Amino acid sequence: MDSEHAHAHPGELRRVSACAGVILAPNPGPMTLDGTNTWILSGPGSDPEHPNYGSHPSAQGRGSWPGSDVVVVDPGPEDLGHLQAIADVGNVVLILVTHRHGDHTDGIDRLHEMTGAPVRAVLPEHCRDGEPLSDGDTIVAAGMRIQVIATPGHTSDSVCFRLPHDEPETIITGDTVLGRGSTMIDHPDGSLGDYLRSLTVLARHSGAMVLPAHAGPLHDIQEVCDELTEHRLERLDQVRSVLNELGRGASSRPSRTPSTRTSPRACAAPPSIRSRRSSPTWATDGRSPREGRNGQPTGPQGQHCPATPGCRRRSAPARSSARGA
Ligand SMILES: [Zn+2]
Ligand SMILES: [Zn+2]
Repeated sequence: MDSEHAHAHPGELRRVSACAGVILAPNPGPMTLDGTNTWILSGPGSDPEHPNYGSHPSAQGRGSWPGSDVVVVDPGPEDLGHLQAIADVGNVVLILVTHRHGDHTDGIDRLHEMTGAPVRAVLPEHCRDGEPLSDGDTIVAAGMRIQVIATPGHTSDSVCFRLPHDEPETIITGDTVLGRGSTMIDHPDGSLGDYLRSLTVLARHSGAMVLPAHAGPLHDIQEVCDELTEHRLERLDQVRSVLNELGRGASSRPSRTPSTRTSPRACAAPPSIRSRRSSPTWATDGRSPREGRNGQPTGPQGQHCPATPGCRRRSAPARSSARGA
């Protein structure tokens, strides 16, 4: 991995903005890339109605970060070391979930037991002592205001969390924006149409920094979403032209013909996303862009290919434990 995509190290809390930091889970794989990010949020602890709300004292060299109360987004896998690192950060007052996949949710019960904090997600089966999330909800916790934005597409229950008062403004995107490559549209509830609409919704928050689930932060969300949209539309055009060539007898069954490689699920990222710079606050680990965490090749352009059948054939073998990405 080069410095442009440098990521945190598992178990370490890495701060990326006035109110947000990340602990990387130790679950790297073809579908989880370097691993799943658990985001740790902690605000200034003042009244959200105060005019200086969001101007975290530690951002001006005063006070400490994180504050005593923290919100956790995506506990990640059920890895005791990872969950203990999260619990040790501070007083966990709330646990939020971006979507249903196991690499984000398997640690819910253990972290709930360890901290007593309520868990909120879109799907009731992931909630513990908390209400399900809905689009437009505003959550006030740990001295912050957190807005819920419904972003179906990767899965039907996908949501993003916006911190409008963070410095800079930040949006935790889950797998809707992975941080590298283009996300999968999961069967049976994922939808390409929903995904494209969700990218349009996110792009309205121009200037916000992306805090993705499987890579370091990206600037800025409008550019990222515009490029991802352009990439998908290009793929759709390719599919349409292949279908036109094949005619009405075209089959959706996998084959070895070149046409299957132009599926809308194909995951190669647009070049500008591949080269986008991460936040300078992100650590480097010195790996080559063509190496995975275990030194394995990661795809045709040095890219991991999370759960995209067309690309899985050409990259490192998928691990069954990583299918939840
Ligand atoms: Zn996912
Ligand atoms: Zn994921």
